[in-house]
Amino acid sequence: TEEELAAGRRAYELDRRHVFHSWSAQKQITPMTITRAEGSYVWDGEGRKLLDFSSQLVNTNIGHQHPKVVAAIQEQAGKLCTIAPQYVNDARSEAARLVSELTPGNLDTVFFTNGGADAIEHAIRMARLHTGRYKVLSAYRSYHGGTALAVNVTGDPRRIPNDYGTSGTVHFHIPFLYRSQFHAATQEEEVQRALEHLEQLILLEGPGAFAALVLESIPGTAGIMVPPPGYLAGVRELTRKYGMVFIADEVMAGFGRSGKWFAVEHADGVEPDLLTFAKGVNSGYVPLGGVAISDEIAGTFANSPYPGGLTYSGHPLACAAAVATINAMRDEGMVENAANLGETVFGPGLAELARKHVSVGEVRGTGAFWAIEFVKNRETREPLAPYGGSSPAMNELIAACKERGLLPFANFNRIHVVPPLNITEEDARTGLGILDEVMAIADGYTE
Ligand code: PLP
Repeated sequence: TEEELAAGRRAYELDRRHVFHSWSAQKQITPMTITRAEGSYVWDGEGRKLLDFSSQLVNTNIGHQHPKVVAAIQEQAGKLCTIAPQYVNDARSEAARLVSELTPGNLDTVFFTNGGADAIEHAIRMARLHTGRYKVLSAYRSYHGGTALAVNVTGDPRRIPNDYGTSGTVHFHIPFLYRSQFHAATQEEEVQRALEHLEQLILLEGPGAFAALVLESIPGTAGIMVPPPGYLAGVRELTRKYGMVFIADEVMAGFGRSGKWFAVEHADGVEPDLLTFAKGVNSGYVPLGGVAISDEIAGTFANSPYPGGLTYSGHPLACAAAVATINAMRDEGMVENAANLGETVFGPGLAELARKHVSVGEVRGTGAFWAIEFVKNRETREPLAPYGGSSPAMNELIAACKERGLLPFANFNRIHVVPPLNITEEDARTGLGILDEVMAIADGYTE
């Protein structure tokens, strides 16, 4: 409506004057205004409807404005908006029960945080206190959050301007055959060499030095490199051998994104000691994250206090949203839908686009969690934008998606296909169709 458009223009003016944006040069951005959202769609400041193939920051796993979750938040708001963490609250108790039930292994207690980064901070603090050690292993090509320690264990370029010394963090390479660090020709070789590299690093840094190894079960923003068979099991074995806590970061990969409730379940039988989550736990309707804790680590804090907390730990509105989200996901078979779309639509559809377009170097993923890697040259695999940067070609590609009504998730030389888990097959195919059209632009930049 005309009113919505006027409100959108006013919001934009105020934003440019008063809002300070994340990760940005403030004067060099022209952020999109979103006035309305429903299901898999958003409406921009000019009233255009766009298919949300990004799930925002890969968090609206149940789509926008799910009526059951909106109602649950409204009901909780009418009953009790907030309460301090030391008091028992039914929304928090039930959310903790559901998270414990869904997570693999004996992760039976949950510490709630406000989001993903503070979940990582607390998981590492727990690991340090549990082991009495300090150093932490984490992967290059990873993201764990924007706070001091979380960005320090991060392995993508966002860490670099925030790196004031490594504070005991040691980074390792993960398997990524398409851009192999290990000169491997097969996945088997890649896994074997990646595990050898990791063990060497542990021995060189001090086999008794590490409190924890933190790893995204499937790296998200860094490029959705699904770990090849045997890798996570090998990592689990090394963490046991050297007495460190295995922290699986499921902030992006968890809550159905990969076609299973948690991505670590793809590696049969691998159980982390700590599992961090956020985003999909309540689709981001109210900020929430947390750490699911093994009985063993919880035992460390059974009779000696855990030195950490947050005013909003287990916030009732956020927890009520989590309970309603998890129940809606179960009732409506959303995780199964994501798995099925991965197998029948995204997998084959993206493989077809890769065959058709010379600018596509590789497509990879699972469930509703896919990456398209654009290259200038298929032989050299030179990316269409440099690692850590953008390029006119990628910018044009992203703009063309939006012009055609598709909101993409883009990172460097990649576009990720990460829609809501409950997207319809028709919408999924529409999105792939738009990608097919715009890939002609990227093809024009190949040499
Ligand atoms: N861990 C992973 C794997 C993530 O993808 C993110 C955010 O993108 C985070 C941690 C940080 O979460 P938050 O932005 O909620 O602090």
